[in-house]
Parts: sequence; structure tokens; C-alpha cells
Amino acid sequence: MKYAFTHANLLDGSRDMEVRPSMTVLVENDKIVSLKEKGSVPEGFEEIDLQGRYLMPGLINAHVHLPGTGKPTNASEASDLAAKVDKSKLMQTVLSSVVKKNILTSLNAGITTIRSVGEVSYRDLANRDMINIGKYVGPRVLACGYGVTVHGGHTDGLMGIPCETPEECVKVIRDNAAKGADWIKIFVTGGVFDAAVKGEPGVVRMPYELAKASCDEAHKLGFKVASHTESTEGVRIALKAGVDTIEHGARMDEEIIRLYKENGSAVICTIIPALAIARLPGEMTKMTEVNQYNAEVVMENIIESAKQALANDIPVGLGTDASCPYITHYALWREVYYFAKFCGASNAFALHTVTLRNAEILGLSEITGSIEDGKCADLIVTEQNPLEDLTALKDVSLVMARGHFIREPKVKRIDYIDQELDKLL
Ligand SMILES: [Zn+2]
Repeated sequence: MKYAFTHANLLDGSRDMEVRPSMTVLVENDKIVSLKEKGSVPEGFEEIDLQGRYLMPGLINAHVHLPGTGKPTNASEASDLAAKVDKSKLMQTVLSSVVKKNILTSLNAGITTIRSVGEVSYRDLANRDMINIGKYVGPRVLACGYGVTVHGGHTDGLMGIPCETPEECVKVIRDNAAKGADWIKIFVTGGVFDAAVKGEPGVVRMPYELAKASCDEAHKLGFKVASHTESTEGVRIALKAGVDTIEHGARMDEEIIRLYKENGSAVICTIIPALAIARLPGEMTKMTEVNQYNAEVVMENIIESAKQALANDIPVGLGTDASCPYITHYALWREVYYFAKFCGASNAFALHTVTLRNAEILGLSEITGSIEDGKCADLIVTEQNPLEDLTALKDVSLVMARGHFIREPKVKRIDYIDQELDKLL
């Protein structure tokens, strides 16, 4: 378990990173132990000669759901299935293996850390534990368990447990804590799937009192809180309640900018799920015209929110919302690409965002997100320079996750999805 990466063109994950040529990076067990220009290979280290290929930190996907593959499903069928899983050991086993497959797809696409933000029947937590005890090699997984929602709220009956009182919210959070959750997820607003009319994808569903009770309990137990939030009013309520990460986000006003800063909260930008629904034909994504219209509204809000956040020094992270229609577990490169294209981030800053910035937001920057002495060996290699062209991230030629080497990463792609999304690049 000792490797020396030599002749690396190194991208270290820092904010203004530039290529550092001819670098030697030593890895021992799960850690990076040395970083030198033209360093020699010590005794006992296996040399991996990169011959000028690009070595950078493993990617971090700050917003995923692991039960789906990205192939569109009918929402009511999914809810029916989810209701059955909790009651059936057999279905839990099946779902566990689906989750594992999606986790491995992420890993083979160069994603070495995932935050799952809403799941079914604690299968993400079960897989996280399997990885952590060495049953299989996978990325680092942070998981939330079930989300806190309201009756008729976003993901009610799917990944969220509906609550009517603060006590019920507290119970969901304590149940998640007992199952070993890493974060808490709440759903303050509706979303594209459940909005009944045009123009209200971000209608506020969760009253402030429930959001506040959820944040208070989560914080008391030492958890951070992520909130699904897709409108300005929703963001205001979520931030006043004390949410740590706003998922998706919406246009900000002065008060909201102030609240983000006071709380030290971040926003997780997710352009591609909205883009796919808004811009692909509804027959493909199984979405209605109302869904498509609302996805366009959400997309504009997400982009505007990210731009305003960048302009105001509010941390922005990146996630894919994998499992949404047409959003696969290897699509993170697309989010990075659109973040640069639509939000005006440089390629270096976009790469920094999907590595070290995401690590900072998730509270992991001491252990991952950049290539530095003492950090975990979470690494990827690309043939081309992603600073010149972010699509270089599409194919990674090596992956290392906490020192575990994937020498020939292979992603099983869903061709019809890629073909349609490629038309939107
Ligand atoms: Zn989501």
C-alpha cells in the first residue's frame, strides 16, 4: 500500500490552481505523505509513472440520491415502491445492491466523496457502513437518512417523513441519529415534481416553526442541516431557522445575503437536474409541461443564486441531484461544466469548487479536497488538462479513494441519456 505517482502534472485543488509539472506524490496506506518536484521513488514504493497526465483531488458530489440511476421513473410508482421497501427485508436487500451499484458508478467516475441527501429505508447508511468496515471499496459517504418534510411536501412518502408538529420533526431526527446519520435533511419548499401550477416550484411547504425545531434539534445533537429550498421566501425561512446548506437555492435579496453571512451558510448549486427537465422533451423525462416550465424557473433561480453568492463571498458547492430524470451518478463533470459556463466561474475555480470548496462546506477540508501532505489519498488522473477543458473530467484514467487504487475505472454509461445531454452542452 505504498505508491509513488511520478511525472504528474499536478492540480492541487486550491482556488487559483495552476499546473505544477513533474511532481512526485507519495502515498502510504490511506494518506498522502509527500509532495515534491522531481522527487525520487523511495524503497518499497510502487512507481506509477503518470507521464505528464493530470493528477488532482478526487471529486466531491455534495448532493445525490442513491436509490435511482437517472433513468426516468414515474413518481407515484417510485412512492409505492418506497413504501414497500421499509416493510420487506428482501426489497431492502435489492435496494441495497442498487445503492451499491450507484456508489460504485460514482467512484469509477472519479467521485471519492458523496453526500447523500435523502434516501429510502436507511440503505445509504448501510452501504456507508459496509464501505467503512472494508466490505467493498467505495467513496466516502455522508448520509442523511430520511428527510424531514410535511404532508404533501417535497418527497413526502419517498425520501421524506411527513411531520405536523415540532415533536414529530424531533422524532425523525432522533431516529436518523440512532441509525448513525451524518447530516440532517429537511424540505422547506416544494419542488419541480410536486408543483401543481406554473410558477410555484418553490412554494413554501414547511412552516418556520418546524424548520426551526428541526435545526435546533439537529444542532443540539451535533448535526448540520441541509434544506431543499427553491424560492426566495423558502431560503429566507430556512436561513432564519438556522439551516447550514441551502440546496438548489434561489435569487437573494439584501436580507438573505446578510442571513447567509451571519449563519455561515452555504448554497449547493445543482444546475443539471433543472436543465435536463427544462430543456429535454417531456416524453423523455416523463415530465409534464408544468414540470418543464417550473424547471426553467428553478434553473434561472439556481444560476442567479450561485452568481449572487459568488459576488458576495457566500460559499457555493456543487452537486448533481443524481437519481433525478436523466441525472446519472457519473454526471458530476456536467455540473462543473455548467457552473463555469453559466455562473462565470473560471475553470480553476470550478475545479476548486468541486474539490476543496465542497470539502470545506461538508466539514471535510482537514481530510480531503486537495492534494497536500497528510490528507487522505483521494485522487484522480485525467489524460487531458481540465484547466483547459473541463470535459477532461468525463473520463478519469485512475482513481484512488482513501488509498484504495482503482487502476482501470470503468463507468457503465447510459448511452441514450448521454446523447441527449450532450446536445445541450
Ligand atoms: Zn435532491
